Amino acid sequence: MIVILEPNIDKNGDTYRSLMNHLTHLPTIQVRIHEEIGTQQTLTELYLIGNTAALLQEDIESIPGVQRVVRISGAYRVLGRHQDDSRSSHFEYNGVHFGQDNLNVFAGLCAVDTAEHVEEMMRALRDHGQVCTRMGAYKPRTNPYSFQGHGKSCLPYVFELAGKYDIKVIAMEVTHESHVEEINQALDLTGRPTGVMLQIGTRNTQNFELLKSVGRQQEFPVLLKRGFGITLEESLNAAEYLASEGNRKVVFCLRGMKTNMGDPHRNLIDFGHVPVVKRLTRMPVCVDPSHSVGTRERAPDRILDIMHVTAQGVVAGANMVLVDFHPAPEKALVDGPQALRLPELPYFLEDIRLAREGYEKRVALAQQYVK
Ligand code: PEP
Ligand code: MN
Repeated sequence: MIVILEPNIDKNGDTYRSLMNHLTHLPTIQVRIHEEIGTQQTLTELYLIGNTAALLQEDIESIPGVQRVVRISGAYRVLGRHQDDSRSSHFEYNGVHFGQDNLNVFAGLCAVDTAEHVEEMMRALRDHGQVCTRMGAYKPRTNPYSFQGHGKSCLPYVFELAGKYDIKVIAMEVTHESHVEEINQALDLTGRPTGVMLQIGTRNTQNFELLKSVGRQQEFPVLLKRGFGITLEESLNAAEYLASEGNRKVVFCLRGMKTNMGDPHRNLIDFGHVPVVKRLTRMPVCVDPSHSVGTRERAPDRILDIMHVTAQGVVAGANMVLVDFHPAPEKALVDGPQALRLPELPYFLEDIRLAREGYEKRVALAQQYVK
């Protein structure tokens, strides 16, 4: 059971104290406090764990200081969508809105290689009205002898260039908790010119200690990739790990499943799960067409498979697209063969706009027909 308190409730006040006194003395019930500090207000939610079936919702709702009570009806306590749960399914970060109600595009380098390529990429994004990107500094590679990413040494120029081109959020994978500290230090060093969304890759979806440490910090939002060889439920539980530690600014990313049933694509596309994740949880849902398709093959209609699956995700209501671009894919150190080229950026964005328009029209149609 989730007890939502009145906004900005005073933790030292009598109302809060007597409420806590009451709840902590309920038999078999444990109380876990979750606080969300926003720019306008602080929201406090109390998670009652134990035999809550015996509690009456009206009784708890009548206690002073309580605004509303939500009964947990699914597995994902914090991020799940429960019955009569009107809690928000969006958050703001560095001036960018992330929700189940909008769409952000994160086009950029799979891996940072040179400052020149970073700059060319960011200039193209700025020129096409984009404020988000992806930039890999820490790359988890299958082969230990492959390029592992420049790590912290590239962060200062990546962040400075982001500031120069008005990039507000960079999705950047971390594979160890020390990377979060390195990112923080580099942001400090450069005067915090941009924001970072920490990405947990598919190889680390169930790295529980990494999830816990990234979940404990609340400064950076998190993009959690679905594990490529586990069930959807297991991946959603991984997202819940982040939230259970305090960070509920989580975007869930579908990126395809590892099985040769998807051949000749790199992974079996799973974008049919976009509406499923939106139904089960309140997280915005991202699709990664690059790592799921993995090639620049195109269909007889001239449209790249990457663009076809992007459209499939967006027309199903995806809220974010994470996609590899590169100014010179033949020189890319990681995943060049799947990168889109900079002249394709306006075409890609327009294709996405069409798909989004299609989704919005489908929503309007459903409103008309489904009562
Ligand atoms: C990536 O986005 O760079 C990446 C490695 O993705 P994934 O973890 O989905 O393989
Ligand atoms: Mn990659």
